[in-house]
Amino acid sequence: MEKLDIKSMSLDELKQQMKELGLPAFRAGQVYSWLHCFYVDDFEQMTNLSKDLRAKLAERYYINSLSIKRKLVSAIDGTVKYLYELKDGNCVEAVLMKYKHGSSLCISTQVGCKMGCKFCASTLAGWVRNLTPSEMLDEIYYAVKDSGQRVDSLVLMGIGEPLDNFDNVTKFLELLRSPEGYNLSLRHVTLSTCGLVERIYDLADKDYQLTLAVSLHAPNNEMRSRTMPVNDRYAIEKLIQACRDYFKKTGRRITFEYALIAGVNDSIQAAEELSTLLKGLPCHINLIPVNEVKERGLKRSGAQAIRDFQNTLGKLGLNATIRRELGSDISAACGQLRREEGMRREEKQ
Ligand code: SAH
Repeated sequence: MEKLDIKSMSLDELKQQMKELGLPAFRAGQVYSWLHCFYVDDFEQMTNLSKDLRAKLAERYYINSLSIKRKLVSAIDGTVKYLYELKDGNCVEAVLMKYKHGSSLCISTQVGCKMGCKFCASTLAGWVRNLTPSEMLDEIYYAVKDSGQRVDSLVLMGIGEPLDNFDNVTKFLELLRSPEGYNLSLRHVTLSTCGLVERIYDLADKDYQLTLAVSLHAPNNEMRSRTMPVNDRYAIEKLIQACRDYFKKTGRRITFEYALIAGVNDSIQAAEELSTLLKGLPCHINLIPVNEVKERGLKRSGAQAIRDFQNTLGKLGLNATIRRELGSDISAACGQLRREEGMRREEKQ
């Protein structure tokens, strides 16, 4: 029989499992706490369970774990980039950033990505598989263990499209916020999507208090379709309507991400058009100087063009900030480390 992934189970599911094994419900609480508060990766470490019980659990379940394959620490600002190796040998990335008010971790939600955005390194080698809830939790737990610090806020902005792995991501969020587990309020979570419209409505129905970040990167269909194939599935008007509806339902202000690419989407007209598109929608715009990915050949906008773009938005009443760059000395752009690792492996063959 294939072993079950015990770290992806909610406390209620675990209680049900214990019942099936003829064990009292409080055992579920003990196991849950070992997994989600003490981060053990072996049943033998669950010292308040009898030897027999530990053996019985090990027969039926496995505890997910991962290993830190590479770790890069920025000499400039202490940002840490982890390349994690999953149980099946696939790799994903997470980035730990330190701010005055605490630390923030950016995690991956899939191995690779199907979305095909032209500026992104994560999508170059395509999609491999979804991450399980336990694998996403472990991206956090291993960063906590390694750094000796609690992660205070989380962004789902690493490799993958979180809404393309909807069931696992929502299960992960529910485990993450459980008071008997890591107990992170979803107010401290930002989920970034390239704009899968039906899933934005599904997410609104969950009524989580997380921040929805939408990767917009252009003010109209013609320009957006040039860099984001997903725009051919969902026209920009549909996407913005979904964002307006999301705000109406949840009361949470939307963040729009806008990576500035020289000569592509950084003109003053583009800024004006953006302000028309977003009129009346409570939102914040995050301007990101595009990270240049070798294979992509796109150039970042100059500092003056970025400031002009921001000022134009400001004058038109839109709140826009320029993203501070952290870890610029350690292959900052998402997906680049995993990509490098893949290439090193190819070279060795
Ligand atoms: N799939 C999700 C989350 C992962 S990408 C999404 O599309 O939102 C996280 C963010 O990084 C997105 O806003 C994405 O558009 C942006 N991004 C990807 N490659 C980038 C690059 N080379 N430079 C700047 N931003 C990039």
